[in-house]
Amino acid sequence: MNQMTQCHLTVLFAAFSCLVGVLDASVGDADPIYKACVGQCEKTGCVGDKCFQHCKFSPDGKPIDGPWYLQEPLYLRWKHWDCHSNCQYHCMLVREEEREKLGDRPVKYHGKWPFRRVYGIQEPVSVALSALNLAMQFHGWLSFFILVYYKLPLRPNKKTYYKYTGLWHIYGILSMNSWFWSAVFHSRDVDLTEKLDYSSAVALLGFSLFLAILRAFNVRDEVARVTVAAPLIAFVTTHILYLNFYQLDYGLNLKVCVAMGTAQLFLWAVWAGVTRHPSRRKLWVVVVGGGLAILLEIYDFPPYQGFVGAHALRHATTIPFTYLWWSFIRDDGEFRTSALIKKAK
Ligand SMILES: [Zn+2]
Repeated sequence: MNQMTQCHLTVLFAAFSCLVGVLDASVGDADPIYKACVGQCEKTGCVGDKCFQHCKFSPDGKPIDGPWYLQEPLYLRWKHWDCHSNCQYHCMLVREEEREKLGDRPVKYHGKWPFRRVYGIQEPVSVALSALNLAMQFHGWLSFFILVYYKLPLRPNKKTYYKYTGLWHIYGILSMNSWFWSAVFHSRDVDLTEKLDYSSAVALLGFSLFLAILRAFNVRDEVARVTVAAPLIAFVTTHILYLNFYQLDYGLNLKVCVAMGTAQLFLWAVWAGVTRHPSRRKLWVVVVGGGLAILLEIYDFPPYQGFVGAHALRHATTIPFTYLWWSFIRDDGEFRTSALIKKAK
């Protein structure tokens, strides 16, 4: 690459990151007192009487303390970055305290509510709940696996009678994957963990919409399944690429997720209304629960005491519904299998 293109690219990149920065702004970080606090902190390394190790730089930008191997450029960058995020965090806490004394409600900073850290974990409640959700998904997935392969009869070719076994396996894996990244993201919110969390949630939502269409319309033919999958895969992939490589647009992503979520809830609700499935009551409960979860996502409220916000509550509600959901899936496996065996006889 020649000097000229390199220069152009730099300008382009700077303009682009400027744009992202503007879009990323919230009420909290636009506040001049907060801005002044962050600026001051990055120079002095202190907020009030709280000072940070990572902000100790000599005039030429090299850290003052530490052995040579910790003074590598990468570590230096990390240190600069850590100083920056620590300053933002403590200035936010100080500013929020002042606002509270004046009787003001909490505001968002850089797109997020002001959460309090515990042992360096940003949202401890959401991390714990994500881990519980992950355990719940694992339990459901494992019990389904044991049921269809070891308790129910298999076809002569060792395949299950139930036509949705493979799809529910993928669903289980995508769910566990998304809860894992959710736990990581809520413990440390950086660009990479955020993108991984959002991407895996979108992938899961897209796949579960696909499953809802297949199961509600009882699509068993391979060609028909591919016909349903192709546009959905195209859409979900485009959206994930857009979020990761073009712009992480929270508003747009919320719309896409709510649309995919309501579409599948609607499908399950209609199906639960017309089907004679023996476990349709479980489905009704899960549909109502899913609706409540979407409401919590839309009516976002600030975290109580800096710990439990709408998002954490949403992660709490999904735990019992996950249990019931896998219980429905197991029932469905049993029901379809016995129906197919009766037909074969
Ligand atoms: Zn979350």
